[in-house]
Amino acid sequence: MTEHTALPAGQRNAIGVTLGLLGDEWSLLILREALLGATRFVDWRARLPISNAVLAARLQRLTEAGLFLRGNGYRLTERGADSWSVLLSIWAWEDRWVPSHPERLPDRVHRLCGKPFDPVLVCSACDTAVLATDHTLEGGFGPSGSWERSVPEATTRRRSAGDAGLFPETTALIGNRWSAALVGAAFQGVHRFSDFQRCLNTSPTMVADRIRTLCALGVLGDDYRLTAKGLAFFPVVMCLVGWAQRWYRAAEGPALSYRHLPCGAGFEAALDCSSCGDRLVRKDVVPTS
Ligand SMILES: [Zn+2]
Ligand SMILES: [Zn+2]
Repeated sequence: MTEHTALPAGQRNAIGVTLGLLGDEWSLLILREALLGATRFVDWRARLPISNAVLAARLQRLTEAGLFLRGNGYRLTERGADSWSVLLSIWAWEDRWVPSHPERLPDRVHRLCGKPFDPVLVCSACDTAVLATDHTLEGGFGPSGSWERSVPEATTRRRSAGDAGLFPETTALIGNRWSAALVGAAFQGVHRFSDFQRCLNTSPTMVADRIRTLCALGVLGDDYRLTAKGLAFFPVVMCLVGWAQRWYRAAEGPALSYRHLPCGAGFEAALDCSSCGDRLVRKDVVPTS
């Protein structure tokens, strides 16, 4: 599937739909293994501590959403394979910031230069690195953007009858609709309890609970601002936003729209190799175990 999905006016925007789909630990793990070569049901069963029922349900959902093509097993579509930058950013963040990781993450080697690397978030137009702290992006909600339309519907969330615990912190950040919205608000500069509550438009109890979780993970500090660990999640957020808006388009226009001030171009996230500086493409990012 190479075409984007048109979203009706007034409904969930690209961000809300994407968080409903990928803000789920099993789905991320299934995609990760698919990017590493899994194509058959038994491949995922052998690689993940996942039950038949959960795997079947997730594969069906991802297939219906156009990320897999069913035939001789499950093959990633262009849309599914395009999630590699999100998975790579998660992998690098967990590797750096989650020291007690439940599984040993493989080293990353860039096939083009042969060196270990970290992905560096850059502007696709001018190739300059972009950090959450450098304030070089101007913008925010576009025509289909609002908090309400960016939060996945409650019915799309299935609570954790057996989360894998393999991406525990990423799951805590984006695997829950309110956490994801809170992280989004924090990246837009929100840091007061009342402002978080206004953005999320949910109960103070829920907001307090989510803030407590993010503080406990060290993603938010005591002042409710993003810590270094929280700010380092920026590439995951921007790659997720990029994927969302490449594959889902609301009738009114984008949910989020940013301009990169140094070059003036509309911002699109890309990843460079920290070792050689070249643009990363999926086929050159190979894990070694
Ligand atoms: Zn630029
Ligand atoms: Zn390289």
